[in-house]
Amino acid sequence: MPGIDTDSRPTDMPALKTPPPTRSDDDLARLPASERIRYRLIGAECRYHANDNISAHIREGELEELKSEVQAGMQAVLQSLVIDTDSDHNTNETAKRVAKMFIDEVFRGRYVPIPAMTEFPNVSRLNELMIVGPITVRSACSHHLCPIFGRVWIGILPNEHSNLIGLSKYARVCDWVMTRPQIQEEAVVMLADALQERVKPDGLAIVMEADHFCMHWRGVKDDDTAMTNSVMRGAFLKDPNLRREFLSLLSKKHTT
Ligand SMILES: [Zn+2]
Repeated sequence: MPGIDTDSRPTDMPALKTPPPTRSDDDLARLPASERIRYRLIGAECRYHANDNISAHIREGELEELKSEVQAGMQAVLQSLVIDTDSDHNTNETAKRVAKMFIDEVFRGRYVPIPAMTEFPNVSRLNELMIVGPITVRSACSHHLCPIFGRVWIGILPNEHSNLIGLSKYARVCDWVMTRPQIQEEAVVMLADALQERVKPDGLAIVMEADHFCMHWRGVKDDDTAMTNSVMRGAFLKDPNLRREFLSLLSKKHTT
């Protein structure tokens, strides 16, 4: 998008963010892990929104430290909710459980690198439309941290220079992108970028259909709130027949 690219600003303009004061290793070691990681992110001018992966800035052992911090924070939330976690055996370990669930499971895609995948050169020069899906999506909304459950379909039109990855890898990359606090419109674009970069197809199409629990559990409490988003790139944008073929195959899979 023109106009918002920060690198295109005139060189005589001041930097958008002043860099943090430089800290010594000893100083850093005394800080909570989250502040250390944030310090590195700011130093590297990396964005760290809810759906960004920050694994490159996390050192060994720091995930365990983060878990303890989140546990303490969650305990404070329970305290503010006036829940007696000492006598109530049900909530006794809740802060610890939630911290583990956030870091190791439901937001794991922020903290670990993209899953390893072997790429195979397209030796048989496959150039037929390939559809992967439905892949089950388990995510959470950035707004309320409520679950999002859904399905994703991926359409790939390879060319002779594409790298092919094993079928199960599509699901693993999808899980890596989705296990973060997400916004559905941004999630499909992130998934498309991750696949585009590795597979390098002529065309890439992604459709995501999902149910947002923040619409059931709170707010309008509407029970019919599935949301569908799609991304079409390359040949899928240029060729309406290909797009139609993908969508019709997808709707067939949908009903069976
Ligand atoms: Zn929400």
